[in-house]
Amino acid sequence: MMPLLSIAEIYALIDEFDPVRYGKTRNYQNGGVSKLSAYFSRGVISTRQVYERLRERGFSLYEMEAFLMELCWRDHSQRVWQHHDPQLEARAAQHYIHNDQQLPTAILEANTGIQAIDDALRELRATGYMHNHLRMYLAALVCNHYGAHWRTAAKWFFGQLCDADAASNHLSWQWVCGANAPKVYYANQDNINKYTGSSQKGSPLDTSYEALPALRIAATWQTPNYLFEPNPTNPALIDTTLPTHIYTPYHLDPKWRNTTTANNILFWDLQHWDDYPFSEAVFNWINDLAKVQIPNIQLVVGTWGDLQSRLNLQDTFTKEHPLTAAYGVNVDQRAWLWPLSEEKPGSFFNYWKKVQKHLRREN
Ligand SMILES: Cc1cc2nc3c(=O)[nH]c(=O)nc-3n(C[C@H](O)[C@H](O)[C@H](O)COP(=O)(O)OP(=O)(O)OC[C@H]3O[C@@H](n4cnc5c(N)ncnc54)[C@H](O)[C@@H]3O)c2cc1C
Repeated sequence: MMPLLSIAEIYALIDEFDPVRYGKTRNYQNGGVSKLSAYFSRGVISTRQVYERLRERGFSLYEMEAFLMELCWRDHSQRVWQHHDPQLEARAAQHYIHNDQQLPTAILEANTGIQAIDDALRELRATGYMHNHLRMYLAALVCNHYGAHWRTAAKWFFGQLCDADAASNHLSWQWVCGANAPKVYYANQDNINKYTGSSQKGSPLDTSYEALPALRIAATWQTPNYLFEPNPTNPALIDTTLPTHIYTPYHLDPKWRNTTTANNILFWDLQHWDDYPFSEAVFNWINDLAKVQIPNIQLVVGTWGDLQSRLNLQDTFTKEHPLTAAYGVNVDQRAWLWPLSEEKPGSFFNYWKKVQKHLRREN
C-alpha cells in the first residue's frame, strides 16, 4: 500500500517535488509525478496548500503550469461532482458495450497479454496506486475493446485505490469511453511501449490507430468480487461535554479544528458501501492513515441514523463533501486552488482560465 505518511512527511515530499520536471515527464511511467493523490483524496492536504508551498519555493506560475493544471482538473472534477446527478449519468452513452454487469476475467487476473497493463494491475493490488497514463490505457482496454460498462469498471477500480475518489475516478472512466466527452480515447501498443519503456510486439493492441475503433477483444466474464464489507463497530465513547468532529474517508485533515479538544470520530457510512466499496486492504490503509493524522481518533462503522442519535448535532462539525451533505451538522468548506463560484462549472478549460487569472493576480 502507499506509505502512511505524517503531515510533516507529506510536506517533505512536496518540498522535494520538481514541477518543471513534472511538466516534461508526467506522461511517462517513470516520470516525475508527485504521488500525492492519496493524500488529496483522503482530505489530508488540499490543492491550495500544495500550490502555496511550491510558490514559497520560488517557482513561477509558468514553471508550475503543467502541475497546476492537473491540480485544477482535480478541483474541477470535485465541483462537477458536487452537482452530480445519477439520473443524468445513467443516460450518458458509452460508445461500445458488450457486457454491462461483469468484467473480463483477464482484467481481474492481470492476464490481458499486455505486459505493461498486467504489471500495472499487479502494482495496483500491491500498492493501491497506478500511474495516470496506465489508468487511461486500462480504461480504454476495458471499455473500448472488451466492452465492459464504465460504471462496473469504475466501481471495481475505485475500491482498490488508496486515492479512490468518485469525482476523479468516475468522470475519468466516462471520459475515456466517450460517455461524457465528444471523443473516445484509444492507445495502441506503440504508444504504450513509448510511455512505459516496454518493447512488446504482437499484443492484442499491436495495431494502427485507424484500426483501434473497430477492435473488439473477446473475453470470458466474471462478476467482480465485492464480498468485503466491514462489520459495524461498537458505538464510540462520546463525551457529551465536548464538541464532536466527524472525519470521513474523504476528510482526514490534521490541521482542521486541531486546537479544539473534541470527540474525534472516523465515520464509515455503510450506506455508501453499495456504490463506493473499498477493498479490505484499502479500508485498513485508510484507518491506519487516520490514526497517523488525527489524535485519539475512534473508528465507527455504521449508519448515520445510528450515530447521529448519540450526538448533539449543533456541536458536531465536519468538512464539506458531496457524500456527507445530508448529515445536518456544521460544515466547514474545503480549500480550492481558487474557490470560484459554487455553480456547476462548464468546460475544464474555461474553469482553468478563470483560476489562472486569479492566480496571476496574486503573483
Ligand atoms: C480511469 C481513471 C481513474 C482515475 N481515478 C482516480 C481516483 O479515484 N482518484 C484520483 O485522485 N485520481 C484518479 N484519476 C486521476 C489520476 O490518474 C490520478 O490522480 C493520478 O494518477 C495520481 O497520481 P499522482 O498523485 O502521482 O498524480 P500527478 O500526476 O502528480 O498529479 C498531481 C495531482 O493532480 C490531480 N490529477 C492528476 N491527473 C488528474 C486527472 N486526470 N483527473 C483529476 N485529477 C488529476 C491529482 O490530484 C494528482 O494527485 C483517475 C484517472 C483515470 C484515467
